[in-house]
Amino acid sequence: MASGSYRNGGPKLSAKLDRQHSAVYSTPKASAKSRPPATPATASGLRRSGAGNPASTPAGNKGDAGVPGRVRVAVRLRPRNAEELVADADFADCVELQPELKRLKLRKNNWDSETYEFDEVLTEFASQKRVYEVVAKPVVESVLEGYNGTVMAYGQTGTGKTFTLGMLGEEDSAARGIMVRAMEDILADISADTDSVSVSYLQLYMETVQDLLVPGNDNIAIVEDPKTGDVSLPGATIVEIRDQRSFVELLRLGEAHRFAANTKLNTESSRSHAILMVTYKVHVKRSVKGRHDAEPGLPTENGNASRLVSSLRPPIVRKSKLVVVDLAGSERIDKSGSEGHTLEEAKSINLSLSALGKCINALAENSPHVPFRDSKLTRLLRDSFGGTARTSLVVTIGPSPRHRGETAMKVENMVKLKEEFDYKSLCRRLDIEIDKLIAANERQQKDFEDEVERIREEAQSRIAEAERNYMNSLENERSKYQKDYMESIKTLEKKWRMNQQISSNDKTTVEHDQCLEKTCNIEGSTASKSEEIAGVRQLLQNERLLQESTEEEVNDLKGQVLHWKNLEAAASAEIIKLRKLQDNEANQKQKLEEEITILKGQLVQLSIETDETRSRFDRGGSGKIVTGLDSLMSQARHSQIRDSGNGPKASIAKLFEQVGLQKILSLLESEDADIRIHAVKVVANLAAEEANQEKIVEAGGLTSLLMLLKSSEDETVHRVAAGAIANLAMNETNQELIMDQGGISLLSMTAADAEDPQTLRMVAGAVANLCGNDKLQTRLRVEGGIKALLGMVRCGHPDVLAQVARGIANFAKCESRASIQGNKVGKSLLIEDGALPWIVKNANNEAAPIRRHIELALCHLAQHEVNAKDMISEGALWELVRISRDCSREDIRTLARRILTSSPTFQSELRRLRIEY
Ligand code: ADP
Ligand code: MG
Repeated sequence: MASGSYRNGGPKLSAKLDRQHSAVYSTPKASAKSRPPATPATASGLRRSGAGNPASTPAGNKGDAGVPGRVRVAVRLRPRNAEELVADADFADCVELQPELKRLKLRKNNWDSETYEFDEVLTEFASQKRVYEVVAKPVVESVLEGYNGTVMAYGQTGTGKTFTLGMLGEEDSAARGIMVRAMEDILADISADTDSVSVSYLQLYMETVQDLLVPGNDNIAIVEDPKTGDVSLPGATIVEIRDQRSFVELLRLGEAHRFAANTKLNTESSRSHAILMVTYKVHVKRSVKGRHDAEPGLPTENGNASRLVSSLRPPIVRKSKLVVVDLAGSERIDKSGSEGHTLEEAKSINLSLSALGKCINALAENSPHVPFRDSKLTRLLRDSFGGTARTSLVVTIGPSPRHRGETAMKVENMVKLKEEFDYKSLCRRLDIEIDKLIAANERQQKDFEDEVERIREEAQSRIAEAERNYMNSLENERSKYQKDYMESIKTLEKKWRMNQQISSNDKTTVEHDQCLEKTCNIEGSTASKSEEIAGVRQLLQNERLLQESTEEEVNDLKGQVLHWKNLEAAASAEIIKLRKLQDNEANQKQKLEEEITILKGQLVQLSIETDETRSRFDRGGSGKIVTGLDSLMSQARHSQIRDSGNGPKASIAKLFEQVGLQKILSLLESEDADIRIHAVKVVANLAAEEANQEKIVEAGGLTSLLMLLKSSEDETVHRVAAGAIANLAMNETNQELIMDQGGISLLSMTAADAEDPQTLRMVAGAVANLCGNDKLQTRLRVEGGIKALLGMVRCGHPDVLAQVARGIANFAKCESRASIQGNKVGKSLLIEDGALPWIVKNANNEAAPIRRHIELALCHLAQHEVNAKDMISEGALWELVRISRDCSREDIRTLARRILTSSPTFQSELRRLRIEY
């Protein structure tokens, strides 16, 4: 078989699946390359180190560096040069780096600044070695593993792009740039007798590609293979590199030609992009290949015999490519073409840089359309950018206040990458919620205190008033009584005196008619005395009455005081009760706040770990689906998280304990769409762990997830929920539950509406798992499962097709198993539902996972004689013949051959066609 189809086939795609979880689970075995054992030099540390345990990866080679498809952005600050030291001596730098926070602060003026976040922040003290390790090494390592990759430098002229990428480091070996160091690592890794490295060195100027190795070789065409998407430049010189010295020589030559070419064109090299393309070819030994090729239910390779066969076949070559791009200066170019630049030139530079920016943003947003075609630069990078490729961008900036405008613009372009995964804004929102709660509580407390104060004041004023009233009336009574008393005394005295006078007059003046008068007087005085006594008695009586009424009044007032005192006591009791209530409320609020904090932390942590927990991805038909969660999370925090826990498993277990499944599930119905999305991601992560699956299903998680497919309009929710369902659907009991709850029609609906290939992949994965259940075959078909599966091929994405193929293979396997067990089976339901044309069309698909599943499906279908006629009429016989001859797996080849020789229908057709078999 031509090596070309392996290029994009076997090793690459299967390894791609592996890649998605390599950040967590890759073991030295998983990252072992399918080629000769490492030479001592390669084992010495230049190889991907510590891949088995992310926590142990050395600084600068963080596990998260390896997320394919995403552009990692670092910023590097150039130190002040001599001129700036003099000219700007009085100015503070406009840039402040906070490497520990991965932040860059741009000072706008003396009192205002803006902060940006990057994947890596390299200060002016960063060594070239560190820059290489942070920016380029992960990319180089993935190139060594068979993936394409790109390293680019972007920045204003004079900020250090060429310094970062292109320094040869001949005088000072510590100054070697990324190109030189990358080649060193590649050369250290290859086996001279089987592998090869070759380079092309190009310049892209005004949408024209020029060869920097052979000047005059102009206007080189960019060719894209429509099938594989591979980009090549057949017109460019390719030089095979045998040692580091010749490579450095080549770089020097290229640089000289670049200078000459630009002088001739009357432009500066800062106006063109310099592109170094390193192609790396490795011979892959077949015997080492499929690390997960073994298919359950089929005989596995028989060691020695197959190795013997493999060695007779032509070797397989795996090819990968590293592209290093020194981009044209990013400074704003005057449209009028001043400074000696033409308008055309300005346009072409702006075109390629803005096209590049659009591609980066499209990748960051997971957009299905990445506008590669918009410029030559992006066309050239098409196969080394996004997808499975790994891309690093280093933004170089200058320290001078004079660069500020350019620097800010550049930085702003880049920061957009982060927006989609803005967990900070979520935290901010939660903070705002807490603040609202705090404010409401404070208001309540204040109202309460005011009320208490009011009651207290009122009670006090009433008591004071009662006391005042009491005292006043007491005083009044007393003074009245006193007055009356004094009055009576006075009257008595007066009377007494009068009596005295009368009696002395009697003695001294009246002698005559004494008798008569005496009698009269005595009579008179006796009468007046008894009158007087009666008067005094009356007075005393009055006094007593008065006193009694006063006493009564006093008692009454005392009663009133007592009443008020009681009232006051009741008010105090009320106050105490209210205080207690308030305390309770405060406690509850605090608890809520703590819970929110924990939840917040967990959400952020989990989201960060999402990527790492893409565990046990479907490789050999196991059916495990990785929820294609956003991989662009603030990876900066990775190391931090790793330090604090024992990896994602431990922290998910911790989450289980701390938050409780029920609570997480209840968040699925949260009002806040963001929280809903996060919650479903968390559930999906938990569902990826087999140990959690039963608990999730028991707690109603499966039902909630299925409901989300129906109730949510959000495609992310659909994608993640379907991923979780796919994982839960690995277990037979759950498969039946899903069917019982109408899962097939929900999944079909989701599939019909979905546009995102990743959503379709999840849905197809779930259905594929259901297809592997012998008991569900008929129901699956009746409820439209096969049709839904076939409907999803419209999307054309290889990952989706692979899942569809897996479903078909699973289904066919169940059918063939039933027929082998002697059950009476009619024609395959797959054929009945019209799957055969697609199967035949894709039987030789260049993507290995698709091809492998379909080859299996065909064998399974062919095992059952009832299917033979349809298979012949749809052209499947040819595919079976091809499989029996060319299939890379010996067991499948043998199976196909056996079927062809044992089936009477196939035999007679082969005879009719005069094909010797
Ligand atoms: P660019 O390629 O972006 O136009 P250069 O790489 O040519 O910029 O750098 C401009 C000048 O600054 C060169 O003299 C270079 O040696 C110096 N320079 C750039 N980056 C650094 C750095 N990190 N440390 C020391 N000197 C630097
Ligand atoms: Mg330069």
